[in-house]
Amino acid sequence: MTEQPTAVLMLSLGGTIAMTGGAGGVVPTLTAEDLIAAVPGAADTGIDVQVQTFCQLPSASLRLDDLTALAALIAERTTTGDVDGVVITQGTDTIEETAYLLDLLHGGDAPIVVTGAMRNPTQAGADGPANVLAAIHTAASPTARGLGALVVFADEIHAARYVRKTHSTSGGTFRSPNAGPLGRVVEGAVRLLAYPPHRLTVPLAAVTRTPRVGLHTVTVGDDGALLAGAENLDGLVVAGFGVGHVPQLLINQLTALAATIPVVLTSRIGAGPVLEATYAFPGSESDLRQRGLIGAGFLDSYKARILLHTLLAAGADHDIIAAGFAAAGGTGEPAHWPWAQHP
Ligand code: GLU
Repeated sequence: MTEQPTAVLMLSLGGTIAMTGGAGGVVPTLTAEDLIAAVPGAADTGIDVQVQTFCQLPSASLRLDDLTALAALIAERTTTGDVDGVVITQGTDTIEETAYLLDLLHGGDAPIVVTGAMRNPTQAGADGPANVLAAIHTAASPTARGLGALVVFADEIHAARYVRKTHSTSGGTFRSPNAGPLGRVVEGAVRLLAYPPHRLTVPLAAVTRTPRVGLHTVTVGDDGALLAGAENLDGLVVAGFGVGHVPQLLINQLTALAATIPVVLTSRIGAGPVLEATYAFPGSESDLRQRGLIGAGFLDSYKARILLHTLLAAGADHDIIAAGFAAAGGTGEPAHWPWAQHP
């Protein structure tokens, strides 16, 4: 019996990697077929790469509903066993959010590998083809199975839950400030250097609604005017100063909001946790926790917004949301995650 080649499904969503144009600027035009055709050596990998153009958008215009549909498509193709892994190509602007959403909604072992490019195909040194090839190798690798969603970029492998875009133009923009990369792609092989501690997922079947979750970043002199109307949201993430502080002027508004919708406290710094009980002044992290805000631990503001969105989409109440954030934020027991964990 001849062995089936490893099969990878590559779905393209648009982004710089798929953009072409002239002097006026580039726009997404390339299909998934175009992208794979531009990768030197793709045919020599022995990997059966199946391609599908999912959409052709700048990643700023991706919608959470579409990404949930993408997660459903991935579940369908990976659970029937016809593909061993999935590559997503998209714009880098929102990879840190989309990859985490896909991670949360992916209960299977097949790797989901998200990548893109910082230099478009018309530029010297376009990085798209190299990133696609490294992503294909990772998606096909038995070593990457069970790791959930990953971001592979510039030969580094990052966990979707940790990765951030850290530079607006650098090819090495993706970093995991709290954890570092999980590994690297070397000579086409996945070399893991670290394992993420646990995987926390939300069953796709539980996702029944599309909540609206806001993000408010506090700034010096913030008078709370921009929080007006936030009570109409389903949930709010506050990106506070440092370890989770806000101006004193905001505390009555946040207290009132936290009494009606989940309000999650993060740090606007983007690395390191919010604290729980170090400072005690009005507007401090401990004061805000007593006022009903939920600490996000190590999750940065963008990840926290995706987690809050996903928990609300699955109908979670305040206690489940708090338990979910404690588990995913790394400050509480993973065992208290509301759904079954992966071994
Ligand atoms: N710099 C972005 C990219 O690398 C811009 C476009 C987008 O995110 O779609 O793809």
